[in-house]
Amino acid sequence: MMSTFNFSAGPAKLPDAVMAKAQSEFTDWQGQHSSVMEISHRSSAFMAVAEAAEQNLRSLLAVPNNYKVLFVQGGGRGQFAGVPLNFSEQGQRALHLVSGSWSKGAVAESAKYNDAQIIASAEKVDGLSVFNPVTYEADANDAYCHFCPNETVDGVAFDWLPDVGSVPLVADMSSTILSQPLDVSKFGVIYAGAQKNIGPSGLSVVIVREDLLGKAQSITPSFLDYTLQAKHDSMYNTPPTYSWYLAGLVFEWLKDQGGLEHMAKVNKAKSELLYNAIDNSDFYANPVAVANRSKMNVPFTLADSELDSVFLSEALDSGLQALKGHRMVGGMRASIYNAMPIEGVQALVAFMQEFERKYG
Ligand SMILES: *Cc1c(COP(=O)(O)O)cnc(C)c1O
Repeated sequence: MMSTFNFSAGPAKLPDAVMAKAQSEFTDWQGQHSSVMEISHRSSAFMAVAEAAEQNLRSLLAVPNNYKVLFVQGGGRGQFAGVPLNFSEQGQRALHLVSGSWSKGAVAESAKYNDAQIIASAEKVDGLSVFNPVTYEADANDAYCHFCPNETVDGVAFDWLPDVGSVPLVADMSSTILSQPLDVSKFGVIYAGAQKNIGPSGLSVVIVREDLLGKAQSITPSFLDYTLQAKHDSMYNTPPTYSWYLAGLVFEWLKDQGGLEHMAKVNKAKSELLYNAIDNSDFYANPVAVANRSKMNVPFTLADSELDSVFLSEALDSGLQALKGHRMVGGMRASIYNAMPIEGVQALVAFMQEFERKYG
């Protein structure tokens, strides 16, 4: 059988070993003659799953003790609303960096609940997206500064933190969380929709510094009230139990791989392989400045866009799936999250070189 590799941006591929384990216990989990999705979230068996998942996530990211880790619903966009509702008052200013389409979407949602202001945006310089470090004289009353360090659609990433004084930093890490070690203590809030690097869609992980809790707007829907969820160990309403279980398997897998130091090395090697292939050819191009290139989402274009559909269909014939770029960007995009083995990137590069030989 030909090996296939799925480059979907999200919902994205999960590790093969995780899927095999989930399959092996799908209908008979821990000898219970039931699936883990068919048992009460309040049963001691599920509580153990939930707790182990949280502990493994805490240890992978070295989450300090003064942070709560929540497993809630609503994916990424749900938290676009959850953040302003929980961490600002109506009319209070919230600072936003816009590096691409997701961080732009967060501003529009935030503006429903507070005074969301864009203080810096990525630019195009010589046709390439660039986002330089941001320093901003914030007001002591500003609620927080929101940004997205890896833009899934645009392939724009940055590793600096905005300098906004003592204003808490809030980061949408949906497509980069767990791809490398992280100093959680630098952030007020980190959140991530699960379907890129954690597990199935619908679930989101929210990591929040405790002193920021307790200030939700009175209109906050209860299920999005992080303080209430923290008080109830993320079980105020029924959590997405099966997704939580799968996320737990992913965290175990990450630990078995050697943790985030190891993932960072692999992710660096994978992205370098692909960017080198793009840079060493006049046939392919990436629209992002080198300093802002994403290690997770690699958009690229062909010199002749007439060939896009041929590229996609021949790629599919070679077992390389879901390479079509986002409809707003066009071209191609290879998403190479933790679950993508280096063999997948090697197969993609070999295919790209062969395609160029044929049509270039
Ligand atoms: C996918 C994504 C989202 C949106 O997630 P949904 O679960 O579809 O709401 C938000 N932010 C980033 C960075 C993403 O990659």
